[in-house]
Amino acid sequence: MEKRHIAILGSTGSIGRQALDVIGQHRDLFEVELLTANNSTDLLIQQAIEFDVNAVVICNKDRYQEVKDALDPHDIKVFAGMQSVCDLVTGDNIDIVLTSMVGFSGLSSTVAAVNAGKTIALANKETLVAAGKIVMDLAARTGARILPVDSEHSAIFQCLMGSAGAPIEKIHLTASGGPFRTWSREDIAKATRAQALNHPNWSMGSKITIDSATMMNKGLEIIEARWLFGTPGDKIEVVIHPESIIHSMIEYADGSVIAQMGHPDMREAIQFAFSYPFRLPLNNRKLNFAELGGMSFFAPDLEKFPALSLAYESLEKGGNMACIMNAANEAAVAAFLQERIGFYDITSVVRDCMDGVDFVADPDLDTIFATNKEAFIKAGELIDKIS
Ligand code: MG
Repeated sequence: MEKRHIAILGSTGSIGRQALDVIGQHRDLFEVELLTANNSTDLLIQQAIEFDVNAVVICNKDRYQEVKDALDPHDIKVFAGMQSVCDLVTGDNIDIVLTSMVGFSGLSSTVAAVNAGKTIALANKETLVAAGKIVMDLAARTGARILPVDSEHSAIFQCLMGSAGAPIEKIHLTASGGPFRTWSREDIAKATRAQALNHPNWSMGSKITIDSATMMNKGLEIIEARWLFGTPGDKIEVVIHPESIIHSMIEYADGSVIAQMGHPDMREAIQFAFSYPFRLPLNNRKLNFAELGGMSFFAPDLEKFPALSLAYESLEKGGNMACIMNAANEAAVAAFLQERIGFYDITSVVRDCMDGVDFVADPDLDTIFATNKEAFIKAGELIDKIS
């Protein structure tokens, strides 16, 4: 394998840090060119020096001087603002762009990288939720390859390898069920921020951990799978698998089901996106089936977790509906994390925004940005009323 040159957008978050751990295990094969972060200057500076990167971007312009002063002696270029991210990802020195920023904010830089024909290691699922058709159409035009980093989608992608293009009969998208799987609806309604942040299996950032508790994360993943693999919503089935050993499965027309397995560890999916189609050693925990003993599976409870139905509905309606859903969810999750609204208020704010924000059947990118803004404002009004 020839050395690959990588940009990490959102390097100080959970995925970004795990990506650098992977790269640290293969310094001879991967070179970090660019790191970006919103606000975490200390960690960004430390990462930039450790991996001797070419350039960094601090998105918050107020913190530019601090980063500049720290990295000047190391001969590392420092830029500020989101536009710099969009400009730098197109550079000739970059092969792979890992999109690991949080939420809709990742869309413009992902579009810039797709436009430049880069290989995208996609961790920012909201990009495909909000603008799946636009991004995939653009990738088809520019030849940009989009490799999933989301563990379920990496699993599906791996299960498709060697299928000689046989069509997918069904995607079985596995879900841990989150911290409230066995709770009653009454108890979930009273769930606190701390309880929702306590995910049983996966180590992730706070936004996605709340999304896992509401199961909106699985809803977003249904939509992500629809765009990555071209599979309609009615062929994507969610199955609760609390052990999180099977990361997802593909069923073919002959009834054969292929699963991809491993202990829940995001570094596996990150590394595969970096090394594809090759496989490299990884210092992680390996499966011991005799020790594991068994695995369990359940149907999801749509009464307790209405987010799943909202996601199927937004896929069916198409247009900008998933963008509305995603924006309302981002606003509501932020309000829940600030302890301004209750747990089920998250999905009711999303529901009301899907009913209240203007629907556009065939949006372009400008419309998507406008929809995101409108849905955010609408969600903010609803949240103010509740809190
Ligand atoms: Mg996932």
